[in-house]
Amino acid sequence: MTLRLFNTLTGQMDELVPSDGETLRMYACGPTIYDYGHIGNFRTFLQVDVLRRALKLTGTKVRHVMNITDVDDKIIRNSTAAGIPIGEYTARYEKAFFEDLEALRVERPEIISRATEHIPQMVELIQRLAAAGAAYQAEDGSWYFRLAAFPEYGKLSKKDLSGMEDGARVDVDEYEKDSARDFALWKAAKPGETSWDTPIGRGRPGWHIECSTMAMEYLGESFDLHAGGEDLIFPHHENEIAQSESVTHKTFARHWMHVRFLLVDGKKMSKSEGNFYTLRDLLLKGYKASAIRLALISVPYRHQLNFTFDGLIEATSAIERLRTFKQRLTEGSFAAGESPAMQEAAKKAQAEYLSALSNDLNTAEARAPIFDLLRAGNTAIDQGELKAGDRDAILAVLASFDAVFDVIEDRDAEITRHALEYAEQSGRLGDVAPELLAAQGLTDEAVEALVAERTQAKKQRNFARADQIRNELAEKGVVIEDSKDGARWKRK
Ligand code: AMP
Ligand code: ZN
Repeated sequence: MTLRLFNTLTGQMDELVPSDGETLRMYACGPTIYDYGHIGNFRTFLQVDVLRRALKLTGTKVRHVMNITDVDDKIIRNSTAAGIPIGEYTARYEKAFFEDLEALRVERPEIISRATEHIPQMVELIQRLAAAGAAYQAEDGSWYFRLAAFPEYGKLSKKDLSGMEDGARVDVDEYEKDSARDFALWKAAKPGETSWDTPIGRGRPGWHIECSTMAMEYLGESFDLHAGGEDLIFPHHENEIAQSESVTHKTFARHWMHVRFLLVDGKKMSKSEGNFYTLRDLLLKGYKASAIRLALISVPYRHQLNFTFDGLIEATSAIERLRTFKQRLTEGSFAAGESPAMQEAAKKAQAEYLSALSNDLNTAEARAPIFDLLRAGNTAIDQGELKAGDRDAILAVLASFDAVFDVIEDRDAEITRHALEYAEQSGRLGDVAPELLAAQGLTDEAVEALVAERTQAKKQRNFARADQIRNELAEKGVVIEDSKDGARWKRK
């Protein structure tokens, strides 16, 4: 099955296939590690994760590069304010970033490349640009890209830049569309700022040159796909194209994927609005990492996602239903054989699931047939009609769902424990939801022991003790569910 994906460059749905017939070479802009990532950032990383997992599910290998911006204006400003070298400052946030990705089960890209480890390659690209007449050095020693040297500038963002003033310059990394100007490739050293001594002078790289350099370093001059959040279309990605194609005269990336923004309660997420959340903020409020993952990926990447707490609660209960269903299937005993209706239902769910994913990664539509199958399966189990062969067919569909969604296997308790450790170390225990604090110290083994004791108490018709245990566990955020197969428990 071939994936069809909207391509910002062509403005249409294009088939996404590896140009070498084997491995899809992709580059996705990574984080600037100056602080903890917020859920908007993670939405973009999660949607790229959905893409790579969908590709793998449909039989395509991937070679995925993610850069780490570990030097930029904000990093320099913050590390100076903290009075520590930038390397020490960024190491802390890089570690936090990877912990967060792991909590959200974002697969690690094949290649992770730090900007500060590729300075010579960036310098070389700037030299090539200068040789091609597309870069020049200003009076202060900084180097700029000459927009006039690249007539195709604007082809990604479809901006009309005809009124552009030749030679007007901008030296900040992010700027608005009206100021499309010659942009900085290399910033001359300023006193007190981190800089490198190089053949083009002492200084540090601009943000845009970093991505052109590292993409070509690991993927070649022309590769399959480039991704990022929608805010990067202009100027960042437009500039990457200009820098790369001016020297190679080849299409830099054939396919461009842009993830639309996450909004909170219909508004832009910002610190001043008080609606700004890091992943850790949500974990400390008691939301599960799996629910955050599901909520952030369930709205397809080409739609704005309006984040709400109700959305997280919905995701939590959807995951609980999936986990309970899988548990019923794996722990129940079923007669041998198959029932034609369930076999048909499983086949249909799988086909609809794959077809929705391959249609521009429509995660919302991909979820629906899985829950239809869950309902049909639960009914069949309740009526004693589910056969062992049906169970296997349904488990196979759930496995293919989880190959992309990855929310069924329960690792939430461990992630929440890590978040609590973080709260303790960073003086944030005051932000922790009370139920979470109460649950602390109650290990899985302790819960198992109490649940077993309750089952025993019930057998002996000691209902007072059984209720007492149930209430005690409930206070610590553990709920017990009785079913005909025995008692199951889970953390709230
Ligand atoms: P940054 O660390 O700011 O360079 O951003 C890392 C990634 O997150 C980039 O691909 C951004 O486009 C993306 N991003 C930033 N804010 C949001 C948001 N509110 N929603 C979705 N993606 C975002
Ligand atoms: Zn980039």
